[in-house]
Amino acid sequence: MSDRNLDLFERAKQLIPGGVNSPVRAFRAVGGTPRFVQRAQGAYFWDANGQRYIDYIGSWGPMILGHGHPAVLEAVQKAATEGFSFGAPTEREVELAEEIVKLVPSLEMVRLVSSGTEAGMSTIRLARGATGRKTIIKFEGCYHGHADALLVKAGSGLATFGNPTSAGVPPEVVQHTLVLEYNNVAQIEAAFAEHGADIACVIIEPIAGNMNFVRASVPFVKRIRELCTQHSALFVFDEVMTGFRVGLGSAQGHYASLIPGFEPDMTVMGKVIGGGMPLAAFGGKRAVMEHLAPLGGVYQAGTLSGNPVATACGLATLKEIQKPGFFEALSATTRSLVDGLKAAADAEGVPFSVDCQGGMFGFFLMPELPQNYATVMKTEGAKFNALFHGLLDRGVYIAPALYEAGFVSAAHTADDIAATVAAAREVFASLR
Ligand code: PMP
Repeated sequence: MSDRNLDLFERAKQLIPGGVNSPVRAFRAVGGTPRFVQRAQGAYFWDANGQRYIDYIGSWGPMILGHGHPAVLEAVQKAATEGFSFGAPTEREVELAEEIVKLVPSLEMVRLVSSGTEAGMSTIRLARGATGRKTIIKFEGCYHGHADALLVKAGSGLATFGNPTSAGVPPEVVQHTLVLEYNNVAQIEAAFAEHGADIACVIIEPIAGNMNFVRASVPFVKRIRELCTQHSALFVFDEVMTGFRVGLGSAQGHYASLIPGFEPDMTVMGKVIGGGMPLAAFGGKRAVMEHLAPLGGVYQAGTLSGNPVATACGLATLKEIQKPGFFEALSATTRSLVDGLKAAADAEGVPFSVDCQGGMFGFFLMPELPQNYATVMKTEGAKFNALFHGLLDRGVYIAPALYEAGFVSAAHTADDIAATVAAAREVFASLR
């Protein structure tokens, strides 16, 4: 029988570098043929051969309601009939900004853009422009998009390729980017002691989904908050992945429940706020945001920014996730998945650790959850690849790289979870 995925991959490779428009899709880490998606509905997608998969990627996070949610589909169809893009302001942009600001108290103003990369890049420029300082601090294993200044020891696809940074980024461009170890309080204290007056911002993935799933510890977040306040640097939460995914208040809501009064100064958002359409945002305190053009001297712009179809999709998505009980149900589904996987691994004697928050999860083929990137890197790659392919063969689609978080949607049923756990148990038995 012909394999349409393989045929498409061969065709794609003739014209598109690596056959894909974003590196991790190429299955380079795990080997084999990427699945070309034909269509998706609810918790499933079907590949070019008509094979169905239970989808735990959900477009890498945005599809929190599952694919093709009727209310979202209707909103998008209606918006599309009214026009695709105007390059002029619309009411829906105002509505979306109002929704985001309502749900995330640290945000007083937001600007909408089209990708998480743009949002992260613009945040760094704004932080530097507003503070008049050059130095930025990021953490090893955190990915904030592919802006030059941030392409230092990022996780995700870059981790897969083993490049500490990217070719094409001159050292001068990253000379003001300090990279520290995640969850290392002593290092951040030393950095502020030495460079405090030069630090524009500290940017962090509060739950780092680009090294699978590693939480920033409470003492770590608390100490960064104190140091940023003390030295007038901005604390930036990159919530592109965690925003409206780990809870309605996002990761910062979770940390505020553990650290009374906690707020970041700026937030980067993406994924869920666009519901699967190209939409992202960055925001923060009014005094900082007013440095942006046209009010201030920090330039930032976009032809498709605040796109009317994308904002319709985002608004409809945010409306659904605010329904009573939404996150309780999503969290329970995710919890049942990770508990099931853990029990299956234990039963088969496979070292395994899991964690989750809201609709985001991660697991490691090691007995303890790692606290930083160096430990994440100790995972046995060959074992992960065998698990990935074993699940894929059984119709379960997880991230094709061990540095990536997984995502559960509201469309995943108890039967889907049971089928996934049963498949995993079979694969674990073969891994022993
Ligand atoms: N920040 C984080 C935390 C991300 O996970 C990602 C993408 N996975 C980005 C930024 C970049 O977003 P985008 O791919 O939309 O450019």
